[in-house]
Parts: sequence; C-alpha cells; structure tokens
Amino acid sequence: MPVDMSVPPSVFEGPAFNRIPVWVQQKLSPLAVQKIQAVYDFVENEVIPREQIMRNQIDSRRWSTPPLMHELREKAKAKGLFNLFLPIHFDESPGLTNLEYSCCAEVMGRCYWAAQTMNCHAPETGNIELLAKYCSEEQKEKWLKPLLEGTASSAYSMTEPDVASSDATNIGIEIRRDGDEYVINGRKLYGNCLWNKDLSFYILMGCSDPTNEDRWKRHTMLIVPCNTPGITQVRNLTIMGYDWAPEGHGEYLYKDVRIPAANVILGEGRAFEIAQGRLGPGRIHHCMRLLGQCERAYELALIRCTDPRKKPRGKLIGEFDSNIERIAQMRLELDAARLVVLSAADTIDVRGNKAGKRTIAQSKILVPILATKIIDECMQMYAGQGLTQHTPLPEMWTYARFVRVADGPDAAHRHQVGREEMKTAPKFQQRYEEYTAKAKILTEQYGFKYESFD
Ligand SMILES: Cc1cc2nc3c(=O)[nH]c(=O)nc-3n(C[C@H](O)[C@H](O)[C@H](O)COP(=O)(O)OP(=O)(O)OC[C@H]3O[C@@H](n4cnc5c(N)ncnc54)[C@H](O)[C@@H]3O)c2cc1C
Repeated sequence: MPVDMSVPPSVFEGPAFNRIPVWVQQKLSPLAVQKIQAVYDFVENEVIPREQIMRNQIDSRRWSTPPLMHELREKAKAKGLFNLFLPIHFDESPGLTNLEYSCCAEVMGRCYWAAQTMNCHAPETGNIELLAKYCSEEQKEKWLKPLLEGTASSAYSMTEPDVASSDATNIGIEIRRDGDEYVINGRKLYGNCLWNKDLSFYILMGCSDPTNEDRWKRHTMLIVPCNTPGITQVRNLTIMGYDWAPEGHGEYLYKDVRIPAANVILGEGRAFEIAQGRLGPGRIHHCMRLLGQCERAYELALIRCTDPRKKPRGKLIGEFDSNIERIAQMRLELDAARLVVLSAADTIDVRGNKAGKRTIAQSKILVPILATKIIDECMQMYAGQGLTQHTPLPEMWTYARFVRVADGPDAAHRHQVGREEMKTAPKFQQRYEEYTAKAKILTEQYGFKYESFD
C-alpha cells in the first residue's frame, strides 16, 4: 500500500503514535490517525483521571454498572469512538482495519475498563463480530443492533465444569429440539454474571446431535436471553481472588430452559463454523491491551527508578546495574512483542483470519507470559507498595495471568503451532538431501573424499 501523504510525518511524533512502528504508521489511513488520537485523548483525559471514582462507585454498588461507565459510554459514542474494533469489511464497521484498531486497543489497555467505555471490550467484541458475520437480517435487527448501539450487553457461554473445554468438541450441555423451541439442560462455567441486570443474553454453545459421526457437526449455537426461566446462577466465580464486579463470571445450571427455534445462529450443527471465525481478532485485542498495560507498568517503573525519595544504600533505584538491565530488557521485549501482534493483525487484513492463525497463536502464547513477567519486574521495583492498591500493578498482573487461560489455554496454542511446524519437516529433509548430493559432487571435484555422517 502506498504511503499516505495526507498525514504529515510530524503527527507521528506525538505520544499517541510514537510507539507505533514506522511500517504500521505508513499503513494508517487519515481516519485511523484521527481515531487513534481521539482514543488517546479520551483515555488520558476522561478515563485515567477517573479511575478512583470508578473504584468507589463499584465498591458502593457491587453488581450494577457504575453510573460513570454509562456517562463515559455516552461521551465516547458521541465522539465516534464506539465499535472501532469491527473491521472495515463489515457493513456496520466504523472503518478501521484490524491493524489500525490494534493501535487503538493498545491505548485502551492503559486502563482495564477503558475498552468498555468505547464498546470494545470482551466478550462483546467477539459476539458482535459473530452476530454480524453469521446472523440473519431479522436476528441482526433484534440482537446485533442493540449491542452496537450499546443499549444491550452479551456474554459468551462455552466452557463447562465437567469436560476439558479447550477441546470444544467435548462440550456436552444438551440442546434438544421440541417443536418450535430448543430445550437446554446441563451446566456451564464462566460467562458474565446474571447478577448484573444490564446483561441481556448469552451466546451459548451446546451439543444438539451427540451421535453424529462427524464430531464437528454435533454442536449448535443459540442466543439465550438472560431472563429465560430455568437458568440459575449457582455462584459468582472469583478469578484469582477478585470477583471482577460489576460484570464478573458465574457458574450456571440450565434446567429445561426453552428458547425459540428462531434463536439458532446459522443453523443446527454449525457451531464450529462459527467458533472458528470468532476468536482470532479478539486474541489480538487482548494482546494489544496487555501491551498498553505493560507500557503503563513500565512508565511507573521508570518513575520509581528515578524517585529521589527512594534511595537504598544512598543510590536511586535506577542506579543499580541490575535495574538498568531490567529496564532495557523490558523495553526490548515490549517492542518485540508489539511487532508480533501487529504482524498478526496485518496478516488477517491482507490474507484473512485463516492465514493469520499461526501469528495469532504466537501472539496469544507470547504476550500474556511476557506481560506477567514485565509487570512482575515492575512490582518488584516498587516492592511493598507495588503489591498494594497504591499502584494498579496487582490488577494488571492478574489480568495478564488470566489471559493465559481465557479464550483457550496457551498450551493448546503451543500444541497447535508445534504440530503445524512438525509438518514442515519433510520440506527440510528434502533440502538437506539436496545439500548432501551437491556437497558430494563438489567435494570430489575439489579432490577430496566425501565423508558421510549418516
Ligand atoms: C478470566 C477468564 C474468563 C473466561 N471467560 C470465559 C467466557 O466468557 N466464556 C467461556 O465460555 N469461557 C470463559 N473462560 C474459560 C476458558 O475459556 C477455559 O477455561 C479455557 O478454554 C480452558 O478450558 P478448561 O478450563 O476446561 O481447561 P482444559 O480444557 O481442561 O485444559 C486444562 C489444561 O490442559 C492442558 N491442555 C489442554 N489442551 C492442550 C493441548 N492441546 N496441548 C497441550 N496441553 C493442553 C493445558 O495445560 C490446559 O491448561 C474464561 C476463563 C478465564 C480464566
């Protein structure tokens, strides 16, 4: 793509852009430049200064969406910052590519809940993309439109306590057709809490045809309104000790839950077609947000390193060689990780979700582990205060840690990448046989005896 000359290079020197690699800057449309700057201004001026207010409001009304969230969502919407994640090829898209949105996602990551103010939070993003891609026009009007407008909220319900859910062919909750309805029975784990009354519906994956010879055709996805009789939230799940109010996660029991047949997405037995398309971009969003968090943790570490009040053995914390090295290593790893994720986003834009599978998996493996390591180092430099509410570091670390499991454990991604890599071995075998054949001829031409090590 040619360099867009309508964006003056000086624009990229500002703090909203200076971490974006030049090859990405050159691919940004004028619209993207405007949106990235607007997201940056919003996060810096509207979100971060209100972090304490948000905490106070959540503490005082644990399971209802804080008024501040509603207020900021209205503001973000009015500024044209809603749904930026929805890529340009969708009719409903505000017009950014995955690569362009990735730059926005990093900025949003600077505060855990900033993405929600712009309707760019998980699991909403994955659900919106799913509904935009696979729903009928009537379904879109009923379920997608309110999500895009921010008047409804959804959750994703796949994981179950009774099976290994990272292999979704195991999903066992029963979906049975009965006339014009589906009847659901079984247990689910995760998916936002019913206790928050702003939650409107679940997108649920269940098993509708357990004996189908093709195990990829046994499952179905349904839209399940939260107020349907028969759904019980058994308890709220704490994640690493936090309840993650006001959205949280729950453990659910489904007992004879009846859903209109019109709520099936794409058709019976087609859940895997849908699931495949759902998570790719979402993983990139998580990774970019984590990098935004890490940048913030890193900035805090730099401030701590140069704080004149903190002088163990009469030296600034940043004057110890070990910390100088730590800072350098963090910078290096952060910049390298960003390249991996941006490359995944670009691959999806240029070649499609399927072609981006490997780089998406690489991002998902690399970034959460790196983020936990970097935030951990920052906490260590902050020492006592770093582990308390005096800094956002403990929450950041927890988020990075849970992304290693959410959307599928990283081990499963390593397994996938490793298996795919093994398949390339025959190509190298052939190449090395050709090296040997040529080496043999050349060695003899030079008058030596070829020595084989096979
Ligand atoms: C914060 C958070 C939010 C979540 N949100 C949701 C949500 O909104 N909706 C939802 O449905 N679920 C959600 N989940 C659940 C999450 O998607 C599952 O926990 C995840 O997919 C793994 O499934 P499982 O827990 O059944 O683990 P299992 O499938 O039992 O896997 C356990 C372990 O087995 C090993 N393993 C599995 N597969 C492989 C493999 N291929 N190669 C090597 N080792 C392997 C790994 O060590 C893995 O960690 C969330 C989880 C967290 C932590």
